[in-house]
Amino acid sequence: MDKNTCIFCKIANGEIPSATLYEDSMFRVILDLSPASKGHALILPKKHFENLFDMPEEEGKEILLLAKKVGTKLKEVLSCDGMNLIQNNGSSAGQTVFHFHMHLIPRNEGDDIKLNWEPGVLSEEVKQLILEKFTKE
Ligand code: 5GP
Ligand code: ZN
Repeated sequence: MDKNTCIFCKIANGEIPSATLYEDSMFRVILDLSPASKGHALILPKKHFENLFDMPEEEGKEILLLAKKVGTKLKEVLSCDGMNLIQNNGSSAGQTVFHFHMHLIPRNEGDDIKLNWEPGVLSEEVKQLILEKFTKE
């Protein structure tokens, strides 16, 4: 997908209107159209790149600082208890829009929002295999 057809390029760059919480030269933060919770927001870079693996260093350096800034304000405004930052890369990981974005999902004690997985067990064999490969290559 290129920036001529990418919906998040159009939203991030203001060609399509959106409920914008914050904007600067690099990012736009909008409310999600199908929110998991009240105040579910998305950080969209203005530059098109698909996922974390393609993210330019410049955006990478700034995005967590922005998540902290916007997340803190959102938490104050909504008086929520907590917040999930979620960022999906690839369809196997749940990515449905292939322009990098980070979810900010406000949470409250006892809400019924499901972001859970069944915990597995880290076997000695798998642990050793991954540690060996990861530290060799
Ligand atoms: P993903 O599954 O790719 O991590 O998340 C895509 C998110 O974008 C979803 O939460 C979905 O609701 C949201 N979304 C998709 N299209 C639009 C849109 O046109 N406007 C807004 N505001 N959110 C969108
Ligand atoms: Zn895009």
